[in-house]
Amino acid sequence: MCGIVGYIGKRPAVPILMNGLKRLEYRGYDSAGLAVIQNETLWLTKRKGKIRGLERQISSLNIDGTPGIGHTRWATHGEPSKINAHPHTDCTGRIALVHNGIIENYRLLKKQLQAKGHVFQSETDTEVLVHLIEMFYKDDLGAAILKALQLVEGTFGILVISLYEPDRIFAARRGSPLVIGVGDGEMFLASDGAAIVEHTRNVIYMEDDEIVMISSEEIQARNLKDETVIKSVEELPFDLESIQKEGYAHYMLKEIREQPRTTLDSMRGRLLLEEGTAKLGGLQNVWDRLRKSRRLIITACGTSWHAALIGEYLIETLARIPVEVEYASEFRYRDPVLSENDTVMAISQSGETADTLAAIREARCKGVLALGLCNVVGSSIARETDAGVYLHAGPEIGVASTKAFTSQVVTLALIALALGRERFLSAEDGRSIARELKSIPEKILGILEHADYIRTIAEKFSHHHQALYLGRGFNYPVALEGALKMKEISYIHAEGYPAAEMKHGPIALIDKNMPVVIIAVRDGVYDKVISNIEEVKARGGWILAVVNQNDTLIRERADEIVEIPVTANCLTPILTVVPLQLLAYYTAVYKKCDVDQPRNLAKSVTVE
Ligand code: GLU
Repeated sequence: MCGIVGYIGKRPAVPILMNGLKRLEYRGYDSAGLAVIQNETLWLTKRKGKIRGLERQISSLNIDGTPGIGHTRWATHGEPSKINAHPHTDCTGRIALVHNGIIENYRLLKKQLQAKGHVFQSETDTEVLVHLIEMFYKDDLGAAILKALQLVEGTFGILVISLYEPDRIFAARRGSPLVIGVGDGEMFLASDGAAIVEHTRNVIYMEDDEIVMISSEEIQARNLKDETVIKSVEELPFDLESIQKEGYAHYMLKEIREQPRTTLDSMRGRLLLEEGTAKLGGLQNVWDRLRKSRRLIITACGTSWHAALIGEYLIETLARIPVEVEYASEFRYRDPVLSENDTVMAISQSGETADTLAAIREARCKGVLALGLCNVVGSSIARETDAGVYLHAGPEIGVASTKAFTSQVVTLALIALALGRERFLSAEDGRSIARELKSIPEKILGILEHADYIRTIAEKFSHHHQALYLGRGFNYPVALEGALKMKEISYIHAEGYPAAEMKHGPIALIDKNMPVVIIAVRDGVYDKVISNIEEVKARGGWILAVVNQNDTLIRERADEIVEIPVTANCLTPILTVVPLQLLAYYTAVYKKCDVDQPRNLAKSVTVE
């Protein structure tokens, strides 16, 4: 979601903060701002819109002070505007604060503070924090922040600087990630390691309910009960190169093209070809419990929810364990019926998705085994689950998820295979799926070679305002995912349906202006999908079909076809989604949309 950056050390803070904020642009934001301590004054600037604007605004100024804090805001309370942008200051202008998250009881706190004479500038929930700190400040800023946070309900990642203690930055978190980069006589802070990786890979991850005092030389951590906490330094699991565009026009294209490697990385060391199974180190401690689960509930949001649906088909088919898939936002609030033999698995690229994190907490509260499938190492979901598997897809910067999705499906296939082999699946069937999995990266590479052809289809697509995506069985969730990609980045209204559902409603929409994307690979439901193609054709619809190589039947019926190599039925989603990612990407490019930072969207949704 929004971005936070901080710096304390010998160097001027502004260039480091600006650079860090730019690295976090991908997360989505609507305004940005900085506060720096300069010649014993608190200098502050903020602005609605992109960071480039802020950069122009300050380019002629000579601000070389330190420490400093910076923020990109994704508005939750109060419109995107200069006034509502962070940092926010107290009535005296001596304390500045940036915040990621939501203060849920801000209305009450604001009323109480106003009654005491505090004057508010903005409409944000955030501003109560800085006035609370002002109210509690006597002679110890850390103590004042602690008292303020004890009154707060909701989520926060905050940085605070103040003229009262100008040689330190305070940081605190609950539910919003913060990481401290340890340099040589300097410290960096960020909501995401990507903002600081060019300065240091030595990092300290903050935990929930911790407050940390940072000077250029040292770090002192306490929890919100005011007890000392010992922190250890870890290594960031990626380098600068992996978060750069490397010559690609957009991160999304780079990440689509990385999929031969990232799917391989997700399998590396896990796939056992000879035994026809997989071994997932992160699940070993809980394997017995997982294997004996009576039911698996997979919970997720957005693209991860689509991967979860494929996981349902995979695990039920290969391992015969009943699986339910539930939106994390629903799961967390509907008091789900869980029993001790159930397992709950959360899927989240960032590992910080607020609803998914809350769902996992709900599951743990009810005593069931909680597992996580995350990409970001050390993320909240990874830390708060009993066990889990990392995707190893590398940092995903494009807001529209691509490589994380295929790695999620690969990882779910590995889990399904391993569970299946210990339950019903024969060694021969296991080996055949393992072999197919191994050949997936090569096959994705083959699909990517058709990118130019898909680009020509995208040009036609870009003139439309709506589209229907259809698929059956394993490819029904791919229809949902293809439609979501199209919506997210090209703003074309696209809906995904199980192909057979079309005649129960959406068929009313079909005419020559309605492009229909149909996934029609040769699997158990191939003939049924052909009937659906006929139904669309009969009503004048325009069809793009994703088919297996050498398919002549559909070639005659569809307006355009994209071919994918043959693989095991249960693994086809990993291939069929790739042309749909490219289609969405090139359509957005033709429509001149901001591919990597689509409007209104944020990369990881750390608020409800
Ligand atoms: N709730 C705060 C606001 O609307 C912070 C939003 C964010 O995380 O960027 O200003």
